[in-house]
Amino acid sequence: MSLSPRVLLSIDYEPVFALFRHYDKLTDHEQRRNLDAGFTLDAIDPILEQLGDSKASIYLVGEIAGWYPEVPEKIVAAGHELGLHCHIHRPLINVKELAEDLRASAVWCQQYGIRGYRAPMVGISESGYELLGDAGFLYSSSIYAPAGTLLQKGKVWEIPVSTLKLHGKNEEYIAPRDFSFNLLFGGEFPYGSSFSIGLMGRRLFKIIEQELKRGLSPVIILHPYELVSPGISSRLTRDLMRNPLFLPFLRDKSFFLAELLRSFPVSPLGTYLEETLKIRTAR
Ligand SMILES: [Zn+2]
Repeated sequence: MSLSPRVLLSIDYEPVFALFRHYDKLTDHEQRRNLDAGFTLDAIDPILEQLGDSKASIYLVGEIAGWYPEVPEKIVAAGHELGLHCHIHRPLINVKELAEDLRASAVWCQQYGIRGYRAPMVGISESGYELLGDAGFLYSSSIYAPAGTLLQKGKVWEIPVSTLKLHGKNEEYIAPRDFSFNLLFGGEFPYGSSFSIGLMGRRLFKIIEQELKRGLSPVIILHPYELVSPGISSRLTRDLMRNPLFLPFLRDKSFFLAELLRSFPVSPLGTYLEETLKIRTAR
């Protein structure tokens, strides 16, 4: 029995203002909901339609489940894997903050039997894995590493977002692992990041094709505002002028997704992990 390679497609389902760090400290529930202005509710149907019969992992920001309970309902009803991205989107390296954030989303996570987690900014600490294990998560996808890497961290599996090693020898990868410019200069390209997809577009298909031929299953990330336009408000224009590096995040990637789904088999990360573990125990 062998595992068929496929693209492990994930959507980090978050409001567009989550891109900008100056909203991190805004704690007022109503103000945050008003900033989203209904976008995360309006975007869900068109995104599910774009996915068609293909199934993805959709890691939801918990405050969206609080604003619009129909969003997680629709994701599950359409047969996708529902996971947790965080409750309120900000860097969650601090273990106390992560514990509080996990608690804030615990009710809906339990209600839906959530098993998968993607850390905001793809950044997690050593004790983060312990917390996830204690909270009943089966896996996390919260570091960058070459496709095919699967690591065990206590009770939790880590399925990294994919990078490609352009040169240098393969090494033993460990989690947690910060993706810094050092890795980039060391010849490791994080093609699974939607930032890279924004820069390279369909030129990434060549990398994906090569990875699949090698029997590897690449993990890639997209965001709702990359598939459905959030509408360019004066606030968003201002935020982008302050953070022009974020522009590739807002480039429309619905054509990329359509061609990806036409060209390659895709599956959620949870399904892939289940199949992998089944094969391992059968051996
Ligand atoms: Zn995110």
